[in-house]
Amino acid sequence: MEKQREMIRVQNLKKSFGKVEVLKDVTLQVGKGEVVVLIGASGSGKSTLIRCINFLEIKDGGEIYIEGKSIDPKKDLTKVRQKVGMVFQHFNLFPHKTVLENIMEAPLIAKKADKEETKQEALRLLQKVGLSEKADAYPSSLSGGQKQRVAIARSLAMKPEIMLFDEPTSALDPELVGEVLETMKQLAQEGMTMIIVTHEMGFAKEVADWVAFMNQGKIIEMARPQEIFNNPKEERTREFLNRVL
Ligand code: ADP
Ligand code: MG
Repeated sequence: MEKQREMIRVQNLKKSFGKVEVLKDVTLQVGKGEVVVLIGASGSGKSTLIRCINFLEIKDGGEIYIEGKSIDPKKDLTKVRQKVGMVFQHFNLFPHKTVLENIMEAPLIAKKADKEETKQEALRLLQKVGLSEKADAYPSSLSGGQKQRVAIARSLAMKPEIMLFDEPTSALDPELVGEVLETMKQLAQEGMTMIIVTHEMGFAKEVADWVAFMNQGKIIEMARPQEIFNNPKEERTREFLNRVL
């Protein structure tokens, strides 16, 4: 396999909440432009892992490297937030702002970007997620799938190099899941580096470069999708897949 430039490396990451060790020793490497789908039972630590990468949680131990540089939450928080976009299960759009204003908000406030340029970029992103006609709509008038696509566009407005997704389709009605997955697939094809927590195994098979299986605070197996779905090495991976497939 051709060696890809490393984008993220998580090394021996540890995180506890009180006495509960949620991340025991997580090591994970993601190459530039790679898509890693993170799977595992509820409570296994998937959200905590990606929240640590974005410093929404502060790790207790281990290291996080972005493009080879160890990241210090005390010094690098703003830079990391800019480089690493995140999309959650719930869209958290600003209800009193239009779609366009939602997308423009972060670059205008955090980057003090030029207003006209930001608007043009926001319009371009809206087109990319297929929602040009909704620029002036308010979030309450959108479907769940449309809201989530706006949330993706809003995150892209900061020009991140890495996108993290935490169950982006879990709160959606089944018929709206596809359009959001399609947007994510398009991003992957454009070369975005992504870590995606999802239960959509069809999507994982089709889009992931790697599938990582998390169990009780550790990644116990990471392999190519066809490998992990057809021939998992670990008994616990097999058990999990038997339950969800
Ligand atoms: P997953 O996303 O795989 O379902 P999480 O990372 O959300 O798992 O949670 C892993 C464990 O950490 C769970 O037992 C959960 O209850 C606990 N946990 C997560 N966040 C917190 C928190 N802020 N405070 C206390 N416990 C938490
Ligand atoms: Mg979770």
